[in-house]
Amino acid sequence: MPSLYELSREELGSHLSGEPKYRVDQLWQGLWSESLPANEITTLPKSLREKLLTEFPPTLEIANDVETDRGATRKWVFRLSDGSTIETVLMNYDDRVTVCVSSQAGCAMGCTFCATGQAGFNRHLTVSEVVEQVMFAARTAAPRRLSNVVFMGMGEPLANYNVTVEVLRRLHEFKGMSARHLTVSTVGVAPAIKRLATEGLPLTLAVSLHAANNKTRDELIPLNKRYPLERLREACEKWIDTTGRRLSFEWALIDGVNDTDQAMDELADFALPLNAHVNLIPLNPTPGYLVMGSTLQRVMEFREGLEGQGVNVTVRSTRGRSIDAACGQLAAVTNGKRRAVTIREKA
Ligand code: SAH
Ligand code: SF4
Repeated sequence: MPSLYELSREELGSHLSGEPKYRVDQLWQGLWSESLPANEITTLPKSLREKLLTEFPPTLEIANDVETDRGATRKWVFRLSDGSTIETVLMNYDDRVTVCVSSQAGCAMGCTFCATGQAGFNRHLTVSEVVEQVMFAARTAAPRRLSNVVFMGMGEPLANYNVTVEVLRRLHEFKGMSARHLTVSTVGVAPAIKRLATEGLPLTLAVSLHAANNKTRDELIPLNKRYPLERLREACEKWIDTTGRRLSFEWALIDGVNDTDQAMDELADFALPLNAHVNLIPLNPTPGYLVMGSTLQRVMEFREGLEGQGVNVTVRSTRGRSIDAACGQLAAVTNGKRRAVTIREKA
């Protein structure tokens, strides 16, 4: 089934060719600026709304809806038309409202510490399946304005390259979101980073580094065997040279694995020449990886150690752990191996 979010303005125009021209503007405005599904765009006559709803049924069906952090974090499990399930997380902060979207149902990259990687790959998402996650979150966030979109949900966005770039363009050009408030997080698909640099979109790029020596990185991230650190560094250089934008490295701190003093020095050596920002994330627990996250004390020491070497660093606040909504915990894959998530809400 098609979705209205797959269509260009011209295509919508030809679809509504029997209607007055201003209807196309009303529909476009409702869909993109107001994030509404066609049947809720009240400037359109009821008969047209019903016709559009039949022709373009909604792509996402809510399978689960949970909240935590006193309502500031909300996670949805959406069932898609073929029965696959994906997860989307809305996070309300004082200064911004962010939605974390999935780009694939599952992920083929198999990172050992990540629940999505542990569950395996189901399929790529379409443009509308990603856009509708954003629109759904934007409607829920109202009256606050959804300001940021991060591709940090399920899947590797650069493995679904064309869809990711098309979604970014549409959110920027059609929905009017600032490109720098759109963040792509990648495990490090080096050729795709280089290509993304040439798209003319001043996005924010986050690279999931997690280790700055090939031996450890190979163990955590199987893709490192294909694109080792040397190639990743070269791709990062191209990103910085071409876009003029700084990038950030994600580093989930794992006890005894990548939180040692040696790991800190390796990270500083990798990040400093690139003038990259480092985002430390305390590792979130997942069922298939039994190594612990670093203690809070070690996280702070690691941060101070990096700062002492001149690295620009922040510690990311963990949102949604109690409902398995934090980074790396999304695993609602219905591909036969694992069904839906366990919803555990703290009392
Ligand atoms: N595939 C992309 C984006 C989705 S993962 C990527 O890997 O970058 C989003 C972020 O969550 C990445 O930085 C990833 O490394 C991190 N992550 C995965 N598992 C995690 C875990 N158990 N704890 C903390 N962060 C995790
Ligand atoms: Fe995929 Fe990212 Fe998880 Fe790795 S960390 S398995 S790339 S979603």
